[in-house]
Amino acid sequence: MVNQTHFLNARLADGTVADLAVAGGRFSAVTPAANAATPPAGAVDLAGELVLPAFVEGHIHLDTSFYGDAWRPYIPCTNGFDVRERVAFQMRNLERAAPMEERAKSQLELCVGHGSLAMRSHVMVDTAVGLKHVETILAVREKYRDLIDIQLVAFPQSGILSSPGTAELLDEALKLGCDLIGGLDPASFDRDVKGHLDVVFGLAEKRGVGVDIHLHDGGTLGLFEIEEIVARTTALSMRGKVAVSHAYALGDISADALERVGERIAAAGVAIMTNAPGDHPFPPVAALRKAGVTVFAGSDNIRDSWWPYGDGDMLNRANMIGYRSGFYEDRELKAAYDVVSHAGAKALGLEGYGIAVGAKADFVALKAEHVPQAVVAVPKERTVYRAGTAIARNGAVIG
Ligand SMILES: [Zn+2]
Repeated sequence: MVNQTHFLNARLADGTVADLAVAGGRFSAVTPAANAATPPAGAVDLAGELVLPAFVEGHIHLDTSFYGDAWRPYIPCTNGFDVRERVAFQMRNLERAAPMEERAKSQLELCVGHGSLAMRSHVMVDTAVGLKHVETILAVREKYRDLIDIQLVAFPQSGILSSPGTAELLDEALKLGCDLIGGLDPASFDRDVKGHLDVVFGLAEKRGVGVDIHLHDGGTLGLFEIEEIVARTTALSMRGKVAVSHAYALGDISADALERVGERIAAAGVAIMTNAPGDHPFPPVAALRKAGVTVFAGSDNIRDSWWPYGDGDMLNRANMIGYRSGFYEDRELKAAYDVVSHAGAKALGLEGYGIAVGAKADFVALKAEHVPQAVVAVPKERTVYRAGTAIARNGAVIG
């Protein structure tokens, strides 16, 4: 007989209370709570705690955070937000930072502790750092593979065309094991939308990998770039394998334009990532979801050269998304939760996600009445289970 672990009295997202059985790291049974007089040996009584599939951290930078390192005071740009200037600040800060491996581990444990067990991290590739960051983070991923599933994006932090030699390095990064090819503001950074996207989608086609592009460009310029990304996704039949991170432009165009482009983004199967940044227009989550777009979320920067915020808690991120989106109704709060869970799993193409027979037993048990209350209260008391084994409690990885 297969060894089963039993979890009793789990409150599910639909409000029902269930008993869960786990075998071989996956749910083997989800049944209405039996309240048996003699529970199975070794059963864990969850006592009505809310059980949710582990959160999905859809966009983070494991290589450039100073979490766990010395505090790095934020340096303002000299003349308004400038990506190129921020990259220069970052290079200066990184020279004095603790070893990347240590910083990445601190950040990973922060995320796992809060219940994220799948993650997409962008990793810097440019002619100054070469493949050093990629090699280090690949090794960290290997060390932590029992705790968390990590996708890596080869990220051209210093542009592609404006930094000759980068395209070859990106190709090399994919050969080494990166899962996706990244990009960065094709218009404002490289000043060549076609040239930049030729390299990105060319490498995606050559190596059979997905695409996740940082796009901060706003207004009609950003909108044009999104349309170009959508067109290439369709042309290459890359439905479900392309994401645009930030896509600020979607936050500052008219409702009419948004509706039109939303339908096209949805039809092409391009996902949109937002971290609901403070004091900046961001993609309207409700309108995009209504159009059928997969909107997912990430912490993005945590205590790095871009800003001092971030706590690695995707439930808190759902709270921020709901707060900034003006979500008050239960159905809206559930949507904010969906962005950090099921929609994230869809955007990352995760297999076996959810609380269902056959799904991976990666879940979080927390003290909350239901999903809407969890999103507004963000209870920190929680237990994180990986393949049915408790690996973190109340924010800290166990053992
Ligand atoms: Zn980012």
